[in-house]
Amino acid sequence: MKAVAVHPANKQVGLVEVGEPRIERPTDVKLQILEVGVCGTDKEICRFEYGQPPRGMDYLVLGHECLGVVVDAGADVTRVRPGDLAVMMVRRPCPHESCSPCQGGRQDFCYTGDFTERGINQFHGFMTGFVVDHQDYVCPVPQDLRDIAVLTEPLTIAEKGLRQVLDVQDRLPWGTKGHRAVVLGAGPVGLLGAMALRVRGFETWVYSREAPDDPRVRIVEAMGARYVSSAERNAAQLASQVGNIDLVYEATGVSSVSFDVLGVLGINGICVFTGIPGHNTPAPTDTDALMRSIVLKNQIVVGTVNANRPAFENAIADLGEFRRQFPEAIAGLISKRWKMEEHAGLLLGRAPGIKNVISMEG
Ligand code: BGC
Repeated sequence: MKAVAVHPANKQVGLVEVGEPRIERPTDVKLQILEVGVCGTDKEICRFEYGQPPRGMDYLVLGHECLGVVVDAGADVTRVRPGDLAVMMVRRPCPHESCSPCQGGRQDFCYTGDFTERGINQFHGFMTGFVVDHQDYVCPVPQDLRDIAVLTEPLTIAEKGLRQVLDVQDRLPWGTKGHRAVVLGAGPVGLLGAMALRVRGFETWVYSREAPDDPRVRIVEAMGARYVSSAERNAAQLASQVGNIDLVYEATGVSSVSFDVLGVLGINGICVFTGIPGHNTPAPTDTDALMRSIVLKNQIVVGTVNANRPAFENAIADLGEFRRQFPEAIAGLISKRWKMEEHAGLLLGRAPGIKNVISMEG
């Protein structure tokens, strides 16, 4: 079967021929991959700035945002059955017994850094025909989410981040918890995060560089959020429009904008960083002002990466909720489905739209 792979040693991205995997353990599940989403991390890997092939191999099969259908299951599999739609988690635990998060299924908090990630870090990904893995990493998806379930993985980033926001907000036990959120960035992670905030009752503003007539603004409005363009308003103007900013959910990977907005985070506010900036020329920041604000306003800044199984399950449930509450917004996220042979334009170029998806069927 064919797979889309990156060869870091000779700096190439292209199709390779790989063997079809087989069920080997009674707990294994075999998925036929239906769709794979393309994200910024895939493009970084294709610029050879991130990611690694499995040990001893010279290529890495790409893809970590998948939707598949179960085609085979070992005798001890209880979580899914053949015919079920399913998504697969990304990170696998490190082998060290001393790493309690990995030992307890929380490899998203791994201490050693020796975890692997499918399609990213030393473990082949999903841009291929079939994959096999342990049932613990396979999450069933209702059939009626077939057209949007490939958005599960990017939504899990928000789900894990929001879990932490809610935990942190437990420190404010008097009932008026912060409910004004600013989402930075109108890419898939930002828009999905904004939807997750809307269904939890946050008043939500999306702050991004697109002009107010961009199609993304329609999506923001369709979920009942408000849009502010960074081309028109700076961080201080954003804050005067919003009022006390209780939460900043960052999904840009651009540190200059993110630290500008951190500077206007409100009293008792939380800032969640999810973007991973590249290695750019350092820019000056007023660190005194930031630190003063963080201390005097009881603020918390938290970074979050990857996601655990409950975050995947919540993401799947939330996709159904998004469809019920704002069908137009969720329908607008997937811009186009492409064939596997068209991968180069998506991975190496600047494909238009919001979320581009590769269809792996035929
Ligand atoms: C993926 C995460 C992964 C992270 C770091 C992101 O694009 O969504 O699952 O942990 O990259 O490799």
